[in-house]
Amino acid sequence: MVAVPSADNAVTANKTCGECTLCCKVMAIEQLAKPVGAWCPHCRPGRGCQIYPERPAECRTFSCLWLVNDLLDQRWKPSKSRFVLTTSEDGIEVRCDPGFPDAWRKEPFRSEIHEWAVSGETHDVTVVVITGQRMILVTPDREFDLGIVGPDQRIVRELDGTRVVDVTLAKASDVESGT
Ligand code: SF4
Ligand code: SF4
Repeated sequence: MVAVPSADNAVTANKTCGECTLCCKVMAIEQLAKPVGAWCPHCRPGRGCQIYPERPAECRTFSCLWLVNDLLDQRWKPSKSRFVLTTSEDGIEVRCDPGFPDAWRKEPFRSEIHEWAVSGETHDVTVVVITGQRMILVTPDREFDLGIVGPDQRIVRELDGTRVVDVTLAKASDVESGT
C-alpha cells in the first residue's frame, strides 16, 4: 500500500520553515480577512512574518504536511515544490501557488499524487488540488475540474463501489442537512 501522508504517520521530521513563506500566500486567514492565493500584508516573502509575536491563532497553530511528515523529503518543501500540502476531514489538499498552478504535475509529484488517489479510493480519502478558488478532484482514473468552488459549496461524489464516477457541487447547507 502507498502511504498517504497525514499528521498521523508523522515522525516529527527535523524540518524548519527556513526561507519558506508559501502558506502566507496560499492559505486564507479568517482573522485577517486574507483571501486564498494572495500574500498576507504582514509577510515578507522568503523572509518571514513581520508580526510574528502577535500573529493570529490560525497562523500559530498551522503546520503544513511537509513540515510534520518524514515521508515527504526536501523536494516537497513548499518553497521548492510551489505547493503546500494540507489535510481536511475528507483527505489531502494540494494548495498550489497561483503563480505555478501546474507545479503538482511535475515529477515526482504527479506520480506520487496519483498513487495517493489510488490508495485513497479504497480508504475514502480524497485528493484535491486547489489553486486560488479553483479545485480539481484527482481520482485514479481521471481529474474532475470543478472550476471555482465557493466557501459555501461542497464537493459531492457519485460512487460506483469505491470508484468516483461523477462529481457535482452542492450548497454546504444542503449537504449538512442531508437534503
Ligand atoms: S508552507 Fe510549510 S514549510 Fe512553508 S512556511 Fe508554511 S508551514 Fe513552513
Ligand atoms: S500574519 Fe504572519 S504568519 Fe500569518 S499569514 Fe500573515 S505573515 Fe503569515
